[in-house]
Amino acid sequence: MKLVVPLILTFCILFSSATLAGVNYRVDLTDSQHHLAELVVEFPKSDSKALTVNLPVWRTGKYQVLPLADGIRFFSANDQDGKPLEVTRTASGEWSIALTKPSAVTVTYQLYANQLGQRVGHIDATHAFLDASGSMIYSPEFRDLEVSVELSVPENWKSYSGMEPGETAHSFVGRNYDQLVDSPIETGLSHHKTFSSNGLDYELVIWGEGNYDVEQMVTDLTKLSGQAEAIWDGYPFERYVYMVHATSGASGATEHLNSTVIQRPRFSYREREDYLGFIKTASHEFIHTWNVKAYRPQGLVPYNYQDENMSELLWIAEGSTSYFQSQLLLRAGVITAKEFLDDLAKRIARNEKTPGREVQSVSEASENKWASTGGDYAINHSANIYSEGFLTSLALDFQLLDDTELDHSYRDVHRLLYKNHKIPAGYTVSDVKAILSQLTGESYEQWWQTHVNSPLILDFQALLKQAGLMISYGEDSKLQAYAGMKISHNSLILSEVLRDGPAWNAGIVLGDEIVAINGLKVTAKGFKARLNDFQPGAEIKVSLFSDDRLKEVTLKLGEQQSGKLKLVSVKKPKRSQKAFFKAWSGVDWPFDKHGELKSDS
Ligand SMILES: [Zn+2]
Repeated sequence: MKLVVPLILTFCILFSSATLAGVNYRVDLTDSQHHLAELVVEFPKSDSKALTVNLPVWRTGKYQVLPLADGIRFFSANDQDGKPLEVTRTASGEWSIALTKPSAVTVTYQLYANQLGQRVGHIDATHAFLDASGSMIYSPEFRDLEVSVELSVPENWKSYSGMEPGETAHSFVGRNYDQLVDSPIETGLSHHKTFSSNGLDYELVIWGEGNYDVEQMVTDLTKLSGQAEAIWDGYPFERYVYMVHATSGASGATEHLNSTVIQRPRFSYREREDYLGFIKTASHEFIHTWNVKAYRPQGLVPYNYQDENMSELLWIAEGSTSYFQSQLLLRAGVITAKEFLDDLAKRIARNEKTPGREVQSVSEASENKWASTGGDYAINHSANIYSEGFLTSLALDFQLLDDTELDHSYRDVHRLLYKNHKIPAGYTVSDVKAILSQLTGESYEQWWQTHVNSPLILDFQALLKQAGLMISYGEDSKLQAYAGMKISHNSLILSEVLRDGPAWNAGIVLGDEIVAINGLKVTAKGFKARLNDFQPGAEIKVSLFSDDRLKEVTLKLGEQQSGKLKLVSVKKPKRSQKAFFKAWSGVDWPFDKHGELKSDS
């Protein structure tokens, strides 16, 4: 394979585009400060009456139709003799190019890319991040052909991608459009480090200044990358690129074939809490290299870039990835057992404050993902493929460990999905159920019905007891007043009113602005403390603006435990519980004989 690439490139340069074997992209980024690029895309000879070309309407990893084609202007097409061709826009992401005779086609257009946080394309004076789904058109007719990308960039820029390098420092070659669209290009001024782990090559590319410690990142990414064998037999790549954007605010991350892009505000790397956010995200995206990129639900195989890709299994794609992210970091020694348990505790606490968990199953949430808009409606009426998907994975892991006397776990399910259902196959619900039966010798039909197809209601105390853990709010915890509403940061405007909670039952709704409690002015800063002045069960008068109208309502306070939900050791843990903890987490029992976390945990 290695020899073919330069031959094709030479071929393309020597002969006219009429004899092209693949699709070539030339991207001129020399006017980058205004977020603009000029693109030339050369398609090989087509015998069709019209060549259809597309820009995707979504990008993989974000299950949402996006207006990606808005950045395209001056779209034109020429045949192989340089004659202009008639172009008709047939959809927001589709153009039809009329051909009077068989010909190669060259398309040119200007691209405006200024969507850093969407991770579909961002061009400025210091770099360009190009995800082909937001920048490079394709033709369904030629989707499977090899591609080459040649960039023209300002002086001193360096270019990186998961794709193989081409002939020059700023060129890349790929097997087809699917590889191109899943191998974003980062070009610009950046820090670059290489490292190896388990004999494989890794790169870390960081764009943007910030308070990160490159050496710490390399050390921890090396440990993390070496842990994959705790789940899968083998790696789906030979080289992997971690791209990091230290931003002025954008935050998030996207998985790709053998690379990822992780964005965090530039000063959100140094404090341990911030760093944990970074390294957990890195772990999440790295796990996606298997779970989604190497095997994924049938509804997403092959990717349909022009439409929604429905699946009832997105909770496995996302929730299981979130589930394994801290496990791998714990096994790798990057995070402590305390940090691991704190992460789980936070997720359980959040689930308990998400009334939507009682409304929607994770399979419904998966199917609704393309329509979901989040916010208040999500918390009160929806499950989440990430957070509830995580807890479904936890429940399944514990069930498997229990059913097999610790011989098998949820990791084995993913090991077998990778082994037996690699792309271009896609796995189905029946495939997953078959794996569960294969591992345990038992039917998981009933389990699936109650945990996947019905809203997930878990008895966490009973579940965690198996691993010698229990929920605690601390010895000083007492019952305190609970209102079931949350204000946004610096204002008294409500950002959350939990369904069937005290505020909800008093007729208070999202967006209401609280002004007084029992006739006295209240401030955003003092809001929480003020509520805590009352006993559970007390009735208070709340004055508020609702849709500009001043109202007073009576709210009967409920009760909740004070303090944070924590996971601690049960009293007198048994040997079997410690063994369960080890089989589940991969590390030894972390508590000492007094039930305190050991100092190195
Ligand atoms: Zn994800």
